[in-house]
Amino acid sequence: ATDAEKLDEHYQKYKEMFTLSPDRLKHIVERFVKVLEVGLEKDKQTVPMLPAYVFGWPSGDEKGSYLALDLGGTNLRVCHVELKGKGEFEVTQTKFRLTDEQKQCEGQELFDFCADCLNTFIKDHFGNGTEEDVILEEEIALGFTFSYPMEQEAIDHGRLVRWTKGFGNPNTEGNDCAAMFRKSLEKFKVPIKMTSIINDTTGTLIASNYVKQDTKIACIFGTGCNAAYMEHIRNIPKIKHLNLPEDEDMAINCEYGAFDSFTHEHMKEIRTKYDEYIDLHSNKPHEQAYEKMIAGLYLGEIFRLVMCDMVDEGALFLGQNTYKIEKPNVFDTAFLSLIESDPTDELLTVTGLFTHFFGLDTTMEERKFFKKLAELIGTRSARLSSCGIAALVTKMGYLEGDNPKGCGVGADGSLFSKYPNFSKRLQGALVDIFGEKGKLVVPHQAEDGSGVGSAIIAAMTRARK
Ligand code: ADP
Repeated sequence: ATDAEKLDEHYQKYKEMFTLSPDRLKHIVERFVKVLEVGLEKDKQTVPMLPAYVFGWPSGDEKGSYLALDLGGTNLRVCHVELKGKGEFEVTQTKFRLTDEQKQCEGQELFDFCADCLNTFIKDHFGNGTEEDVILEEEIALGFTFSYPMEQEAIDHGRLVRWTKGFGNPNTEGNDCAAMFRKSLEKFKVPIKMTSIINDTTGTLIASNYVKQDTKIACIFGTGCNAAYMEHIRNIPKIKHLNLPEDEDMAINCEYGAFDSFTHEHMKEIRTKYDEYIDLHSNKPHEQAYEKMIAGLYLGEIFRLVMCDMVDEGALFLGQNTYKIEKPNVFDTAFLSLIESDPTDELLTVTGLFTHFFGLDTTMEERKFFKKLAELIGTRSARLSSCGIAALVTKMGYLEGDNPKGCGVGADGSLFSKYPNFSKRLQGALVDIFGEKGKLVVPHQAEDGSGVGSAIIAAMTRARK
């Protein structure tokens, strides 16, 4: 066989492995719906379906001046948000970079740093240019975006379950981080009132609905994947004891990147040996199983593992030293984006990528193979992403009835915004699952959840009190 034929044989094998038929998707959705329901019934399930204590949709007429503070993985962001009603707003923001020490220092010190940055921001924006304490005419409400798994009992309360994203600050896990932050605000005499603590996915849901009222679901496809939506309180059995009004709604942070974790029973037909490998070699084996087949942190690594297998079989880079691509995690998911979007006939971007980053020459046949392989992995990710959305749509009945309205899906994260055709593939899979009706579920770029969303929630909370 010629080189082209040999590579095509490999391609057919991977195509088989990574392609998800409509029937497979439908099966996964069925199981996904059940898992979401179990999470609403009982505490501490694999997909925890965390009540967010945000009650119902914003009206779109929320107005006023709010502050939002977002403790992200890399930066601390302080925003001043002016809500203008009619779904309009203006944002001014400052970012403060977090050091590695700050991610490991005593928990209270981390919140002191947050309060200190907030004070600096307030002095810059509302002060008279001196170091004097700022006196505000009226107290400004602050929304705190704290996107780590937390258990809430109220909108201004959030017990940190465990740190993620590289944080390890002692004496914080198990504590109410809202209370810790409030203590720091008092210590630094910051003249504001923290009214709400939220997860960024919940913020994205509310911000996207504020601007576009048909948005009923928010999803993140970035380093990880997750979603939030609005549930009827009567359908959340696990909080029955709180005696909340049964006819109201509450936002749920699904944390559904955990779908299929531990038992791996729901996607066993489609898990490949590469998924298995990534899972076992990750810092949290058996956790976040769904996310590991979808998200930005992993797609590049799947691609790299396939290349390594083929190198071992003598099918790629003949006669060259391949040590540079044999190191774990050196192949960023952004490379797959680049490969898929190479506009040249000769695939010159692909040529450059391999020579520049890995010191490897590629043949035209190899480059064509890589482009098709990236397509397989990127398409699988987008099609699997549709299953979580479809499960929420099914659960909420957004496509039921003779004249279904469907819904908008606010989506955010680099995969959604930068990966070529991600959105188109997602939509295609929704049509595979629901038929033509699937076109009524429309993904669109979400609004800034941790800034604007947090501010809107602060406004909603104030209005409720
Ligand atoms: P986060 O989820 O941390 O808020 P992002 O949404 O930017 O941040 O997601 C970061 C992830 O997206 C990383 O895993 C990175 O590999 C991936 N990524 C960054 N740029 C691109 C790109 N152009 N195409 C596809 N994936 C990308």
